[in-house]
Amino acid sequence: MNDAKQSFDAIVVGTGPGGATVAKELSAKGRKVLMLEWGPNTPINGTAAQFIAMAGIPGKSALITGKMLAVVRGITTGGSSMFFYATAYDPPYEMLSSHGLDIKAEVEEAKAELPIAPLSDELVGPAAVRIMSSARELGYEWHKLNKFVYQDKCRSGCWRCNYGCPFGAKWSARMFVEDAVALGATLISDAKVTRVLVEGGKATGVEFKCRGELRRAEVGTVIVAAGGIGSAVVLRASGIRGAGYDFFYDPLITVMGTVSGLNGGREFPMAAGIHMEEEGYLMTDMTVPALLHVGFHAEVLRFDQLASHSRTLQIMIKAKDSLCGRITDGGGVRKGLPAHDQAKLMKGYGRARDILRNAGAKNVHKSWYIASHPGGTVKVGDILDSDLKTEYDNLYVCDCSVIPEAWGLPPTLTLIGLAKRLAKHLAAEDESRAVSQVEQSPTIAQSA
Ligand SMILES: Cc1cc2nc3c(=O)[nH]c(=O)nc-3n(C[C@H](O)[C@H](O)[C@H](O)COP(=O)(O)OP(=O)(O)OC[C@H]3O[C@@H](n4cnc5c(N)ncnc54)[C@H](O)[C@@H]3O)c2cc1C
Repeated sequence: MNDAKQSFDAIVVGTGPGGATVAKELSAKGRKVLMLEWGPNTPINGTAAQFIAMAGIPGKSALITGKMLAVVRGITTGGSSMFFYATAYDPPYEMLSSHGLDIKAEVEEAKAELPIAPLSDELVGPAAVRIMSSARELGYEWHKLNKFVYQDKCRSGCWRCNYGCPFGAKWSARMFVEDAVALGATLISDAKVTRVLVEGGKATGVEFKCRGELRRAEVGTVIVAAGGIGSAVVLRASGIRGAGYDFFYDPLITVMGTVSGLNGGREFPMAAGIHMEEEGYLMTDMTVPALLHVGFHAEVLRFDQLASHSRTLQIMIKAKDSLCGRITDGGGVRKGLPAHDQAKLMKGYGRARDILRNAGAKNVHKSWYIASHPGGTVKVGDILDSDLKTEYDNLYVCDCSVIPEAWGLPPTLTLIGLAKRLAKHLAAEDESRAVSQVEQSPTIAQSA
């Protein structure tokens, strides 16, 4: 076993939006940060092959439940944000602050730093426009959604963001990783953390596997940010056995139909939509690349629709599901889809079907279930205190796993806010430790 000998102030495990933000913020405050990332750091080229390698490997990045629902996550530098749809949704501030998580100031900071705005009309694709106008005709307040996009670099008629944007237009957490490295942080990719090292109730470092070797890094503060599934696995292996239960994954279906006069299939997904808060789901447009179109249809045996990609209008229904299920020690997902959660999706299906039919769509049908927001596995108020600290000193968690209640929303802006808040808290703790050392030092000098 080798030791990572360099000295660091903090180790961040995982580089999704939670980990990358905390790493960048701590680096900006002058802390020496080591980032350990399970996935590779290869440049993103926006191809289907790379997407599958990083987000479509069964048992690793596509975790299949007993109900054949695939929970998809990105295992690469930047985590799932490499393949996300870049929708920036305001946090549910009231719910969070009822758990002691006040992140308004940090979210405002993020909004000032990041390119958050609805897409310009030129960047909203023809399918999204048709769906929006049909929904509005039916009385829905269907509106453009905020996106994390550098719009001067974004191209209309482009669909590459689904597979990771190679043009630098879609913001991803990898950009924060690069900022952290520019500020002096170290990134080790292909490094899978197996457990946190704990001595006398205090985290002292981590053990990780890197290119066939088992290594250790020892350090003052450990921040586990391995995502909704990964963080529970690392914590369990480190003795926190209660992690990984009663979580959400925000299941979704898509509703599809074909129209004439559309030459689509190449546009930014989730340009516009509506949150049906009382009914417990979000509805948005969703256009996917041709390969995923084939996958969605093959799964439900609609082979007649395989060639309809450019004529398809697609609406996503994403539900706020109940907290239940468990993550296995090996990172498997055991969770069903309770009847009342299915009923929410079916209610949305009915509404989406009407919107598509009103837009002139034929052959309206739905996909199988999928999920892409696993979280709530290491909840604040259960495993963590409101500073995101575990029962061990020096051990924190910062990613989608910390969310304390059922969710149903795009989480990334919330995670950035939580991570900024954690970095401030850790910096303040360092300062108060330094002050108390200075205050104690005359006594030490006298007794010496
Ligand atoms: C297709 C898709 C579309 C989405 N669209 C949106 C959207 O529009 N808006 C939005 O807000 N959200 C969206 N999301 C969800 C969003 O991407 C995630 O919620 C977010 O990335 C979660 O961030 P995180 O920090 O919790 O973890 P992740 O992004 O999952 O990152 C965790 C990181 O930890 C690494 N890791 C895991 N285990 C270990 C280990 N043992 N050792 C070291 N590293 C480890 C992983 O490789 C990964 O890089 C989407 C997700 C998908 C898949």
